[in-house]
Amino acid sequence: MKLNLDIVPLNSWLDNGKEPLIISGPCSAETEEQLLATAKLLAATGKVSVLRAGIWKPRTRPGEFEGIGSIGLEWLKRAKEETGLPTAIEVATAKHVEEALAAGVDILWVGARSTANPFTVQEIADALQGADVPVLVKNPVNPDLSLWIGALERINRAGIKKLGAIHRGFSSFEKTSFRNEPMWDLAIQLKTVAPELPIINDPSHICGNRELIPYISQKALDLDMQGLMIESHLDPSVAWTDAKQQVTPAALAELVDRLALRKADSDNPVFEDQLAVLRKDIDALDDVIIQKVGERMKIVEKIGEFKRDNSVTILQVSRWDEIVEKRTAIASALKLDKDFTVKLLELIHNESIRKQNEIMNTKTSVEA
Ligand code: PEP
Ligand code: MN
Repeated sequence: MKLNLDIVPLNSWLDNGKEPLIISGPCSAETEEQLLATAKLLAATGKVSVLRAGIWKPRTRPGEFEGIGSIGLEWLKRAKEETGLPTAIEVATAKHVEEALAAGVDILWVGARSTANPFTVQEIADALQGADVPVLVKNPVNPDLSLWIGALERINRAGIKKLGAIHRGFSSFEKTSFRNEPMWDLAIQLKTVAPELPIINDPSHICGNRELIPYISQKALDLDMQGLMIESHLDPSVAWTDAKQQVTPAALAELVDRLALRKADSDNPVFEDQLAVLRKDIDALDDVIIQKVGERMKIVEKIGEFKRDNSVTILQVSRWDEIVEKRTAIASALKLDKDFTVKLLELIHNESIRKQNEIMNTKTSVEA
């Protein structure tokens, strides 16, 4: 499946020759001094393409700082005048969109909590009708690709062609080292159905701490994401929101300097030739794997018929334990990751059970 988005390429609306594309600025605009000082330091690094700041903050609990509000738009205007950086803010209501457009904000983004709610997204989309502003859509808080796609489609149908996505990770029940689990496969799936859609990674909200940001940033670039949105504050220790995950402008510059930029394609013909040979080998092996899985399923079908005719249950736990034990031992000798091997076996096993179930529930020709 490919999405039918009517969009224009990122470099037609955001290209200042800097690679990678970095959007940076404080989580929240707090005071005029804080915003201007941070913006100037960021601009002086020469590594930032867009200044971000939260004006209206969607907080999980009431009573926390909920954003400075409309006055912040005036501060952003000044920051732009003084640094030349285009500005970006989050919008969550029609009123936010109207005010942001009137204040000349250059890029709008839809936050994760808004993307999770189609009513909110539609309200934002309706307010965007007729505007020529770029819009970035963050993934929803919950790991639901359709919601993310749906939000992108709603904004696109409102006539927004300068469209992009922001991958900021997903809430998960399990507590891990990340504030929001990256679940890279969801971003990769979005890229697969909309190859032309730019995806910007937000390592700050994925990590929730400063330490992991370089690792996630590099991984995002290695997955061919188009840029990074990283929160930066003049003095993170006193930030009113997301203090633990913001970095100083100097730390941001250092982080960007250390990123390795790799290209999707190489212009070296020798490398391309070698890559083509290796890919041929992979293609051949993939064919064998699929063929063997097909053969395995045929045997599974026979076993299913046999179990049905002898009234035996599909699942025999001891047999399954034995399979996992033997196969993971071989796999570990081959230096395959244990988790990966178990997941692969489970996938095959689930399909085998599904197939056997189908067979169990079809009557034999004798009974029919
Ligand atoms: C933010 O960018 O400051 C923000 C609130 O992010 P998210 O919508 O990803 O939680
Ligand atoms: Mn934040």
